Order: sequence, then C-alpha cells, then structure tokens
Amino acid sequence: MLGVSNPGRGLAGTATCALCHQSIDPDADAVVTPDFLADETDPFFRFSDATMHRACFVVWDKRKLFIAHLNRIARHLVAEDGTYPQMTSEGDLVQRPPQAETTRSPHLVLPARPTNSDPPVNN
Ligand SMILES: [Zn+2]
Repeated sequence: MLGVSNPGRGLAGTATCALCHQSIDPDADAVVTPDFLADETDPFFRFSDATMHRACFVVWDKRKLFIAHLNRIARHLVAEDGTYPQMTSEGDLVQRPPQAETTRSPHLVLPARPTNSDPPVNN
C-alpha cells in the first residue's frame, strides 16, 4: 500500500491501557505505574510498569487496593536522596521526603529530672 507513515504510531503512541486494553493516545491523560513488582504471581503484576487511561483508573474497583499495595512496596524504593515514590488516589506519583525529615515528633520529650543519686560525701 501507500508508504505513508502514520504519525500516531511509534515511540510514545504504542501504549495500551492495562484496564480496557485499548490504545492510549499520546496526549491522553494517563496513569503510568512504576516497575515495582518482580513477583509474577502477584495479582497486580500486570499493572506494574503499565499505562492506563486515567478515566479507567479512577473507576477501577481495585484502585484503592492497588495503590495501597504499590505504596507499601514503593516505600522500599528509596532513591539516593532518601525520597521514595508514593501514588496518590488520583494515580499521580509523588516523591516523598525521607522519613527522618519529620520535624514534629509525636513523642513528648520529658525534661530530664535532676537526680539525687549522688550520695552526700561524708567527711
Ligand atoms: Zn482504558
């Protein structure tokens, strides 16, 4: 046939939605998941390193389970700067700061009590 290249194909245009299995337009609003699962027996394995329409993602009945699963694993995917990825309920990936950065400690720091443990010196 005619050798006209289809401008919609190639590189970024070949993604397929992991939920509805239809192609995703390069400029469509899509959710891209990190490659966070190495276990092929994991029920969410095919949603690791996957692309989905955001419209499909937000109505996915396992969305909350998936996000909780991803975030639990992603906590261990700590980058060199100590941040780790977490997914919001909308499907956006954000880098969370290292946990040591939490400034407000829930623990009360009690003032050190003066101790009278030093026995009086008897002359
Ligand atoms: Zn879809």
